[in-house]
Amino acid sequence: MSMRKPRIYWLFRLMMVTAVLLSVACSEKKKNVMPVATTIVVQPFSGISQKQVDAIAKRLKLHFHAVKVSATIDLPKLAFSAPRQRYRADSLLNFLLVKHPDKNVIVLGVTDKDISIGKNDIPDWGVMGLSYWPGRSCIVSTFRLSKMQADEPLYKLAVHELGHASGLPHCPVKSCYMRNAEGRNPLNEETGFCEKCRKYLVGRNWLIQ
Ligand SMILES: [Zn+2]
Ligand SMILES: [Zn+2]
Repeated sequence: MSMRKPRIYWLFRLMMVTAVLLSVACSEKKKNVMPVATTIVVQPFSGISQKQVDAIAKRLKLHFHAVKVSATIDLPKLAFSAPRQRYRADSLLNFLLVKHPDKNVIVLGVTDKDISIGKNDIPDWGVMGLSYWPGRSCIVSTFRLSKMQADEPLYKLAVHELGHASGLPHCPVKSCYMRNAEGRNPLNEETGFCEKCRKYLVGRNWLIQ
């Protein structure tokens, strides 16, 4: 009983923080750090295939000066939410920061498990990704992606979240990787960063043709 109040308060606080910027596919979580992307650490969680991890790391090497792949680890039990068998994405962002304290890297967690956030009055809202905006950690999940040919949508999801981590907000251009999913999955309609987003990211040390 004594645990009840703090937990409810925590949930309320979380909803307040995330209420403005949420969508099904992706969310940003505000954190006032503006990282300059030079090194990306890909942190795989148990269950994701090594083939997928290698594929995403290979694609990211086109955009960053250094991409490292960490050894696969288990998802932290503390982030597990039993009612819908999902992992709390915001807890995972914190976990990734603690696990990778180097201030010069942005960490991208990759999981095949379902992840969720608090959205308005929904405490457990499934998402495909979440990132600090800006910040040093983000997470993507393949759970809501088609199991067939998931490499391409996973790449788009990863650069979207890394874009948030580097400080980009959502973009109104429909073909841009930074488009807001608005409750749907628009990844098939996205073809690249628009000129405005591209210029911003190049200014944050991204390599984009
Ligand atoms: Zn987003
Ligand atoms: Zn854009």
